[in-house]
Amino acid sequence: MNIDWSELRHEAEGAFVRYLQIDSSNPPGRETPAAQFLGELLEKEGIVPEYIEIKDGRQAVFARLKSLANNRSLMLASHTDVVPARTEDWTVDPFGGEIIDGKIYGRGAVDMKSVTIFHLFCMILIKRFDIPLSRDLVFLSVPDEETGSRFGMKWLVDNRPDLFDCEFSLNEGASGLESFNSIPLDIFQVAVSEKRMAPFRLRVKGTPGHGSKPTVDNPIAHLVQACERLVNWTRELDVSEQNTVLVRTLTDKGLINGDFDFKKLREDGLMSPDMEAGLTNTINLTILNSGFKFNVIPGSAEALFDCRLLPEMDLGDWRAQVEAQIDDDRIVFSYALEEVPNEPDPIISEWDNELSVAIEHSVREFFEDAIVSQSTSTVGTDNRFLRTLGIPSYGFIPCLLSQSELNGFHANDEFLTQDNFKLGVELMWSVVAKVVCSK
Ligand SMILES: [Zn+2]
Repeated sequence: MNIDWSELRHEAEGAFVRYLQIDSSNPPGRETPAAQFLGELLEKEGIVPEYIEIKDGRQAVFARLKSLANNRSLMLASHTDVVPARTEDWTVDPFGGEIIDGKIYGRGAVDMKSVTIFHLFCMILIKRFDIPLSRDLVFLSVPDEETGSRFGMKWLVDNRPDLFDCEFSLNEGASGLESFNSIPLDIFQVAVSEKRMAPFRLRVKGTPGHGSKPTVDNPIAHLVQACERLVNWTRELDVSEQNTVLVRTLTDKGLINGDFDFKKLREDGLMSPDMEAGLTNTINLTILNSGFKFNVIPGSAEALFDCRLLPEMDLGDWRAQVEAQIDDDRIVFSYALEEVPNEPDPIISEWDNELSVAIEHSVREFFEDAIVSQSTSTVGTDNRFLRTLGIPSYGFIPCLLSQSELNGFHANDEFLTQDNFKLGVELMWSVVAKVVCSK
């Protein structure tokens, strides 16, 4: 089989640009044109996709390339929606798909329309070259990831279990990076787990009264004290097994000093926020509510915290830790989880299987000295729903993202370089071919 990569890259880039031009912002979430666009590219190759109408205007697209063998499939999963873009905040049209100085701009360039195109071209290559498969290859692109997946992956897992007969799955969640906490080196992180969203609320009742008189029971004062204790709380770093292995590897290769220590790095103020988020349970005070008139002491006050827990943290244990830190019976703690009902418990996907080995080998074929490391995604992805089905699900964006590309996630002037796009097409193919093509 002889793939003309320069031709294929050109073709894939054209599809990517046209895909970026489809506005699939969520909210409002009208993803059907995006699903149709992907489906039509498959249809052109003679692959028959299934369009699944989850809700009005919200289709998912699914396709399967059959193998004669009985092995369970590899699923390539992604989302079609993007977070909204405010045109006035961008220097280019967020849905223009413009290419300037080697950068392909558009909402979804990194999150995650590029990856969907990498997946799609794996399907196309197999069909075009009529490659015999050792297992089915399955393509699934779904709506509604950006607002919690109720009308996307969660719905499909609940209503279409037949789609998920897979051995393992690829989606977003981590990528290749050009540095490790500012030390320049090529490191491909593969997310095997993710943090859990666990926003919580603190409520306190006090004695309402006239603002002119001294009081010892002002609820705002109680709440502020409690918040202060949480804001100033230094939580321990939880250096997981994955990170211990990574540090050992980097030390062995002479890329970091033997005395490297996460704790010391943080004490010295040298740890990046991204790294710290991967090593601790994070909390941020985001909403404070109380009071309505300057001369009235209100009867109650409440605070809301954004909270992201490491995968192994138990909700009950965490609550006990927070309450101990506050150390004030007047404060009532509750999780504010009603926006994300029935969230599954985070699970860590197994490593050391055919897919992880393929990723390690393929990365090293492209970058001899690159490090491949398991990681914990600090944000939520659709992988969480597949992991609860027992499917090892990896977050793998096969590009070496620079800090400015990383900054594009959910932000302005999101872009992917043409070089990274080219790498992504070829590296994704390399991994997928190892796993599904008959030897
Ligand atoms: Zn995403």
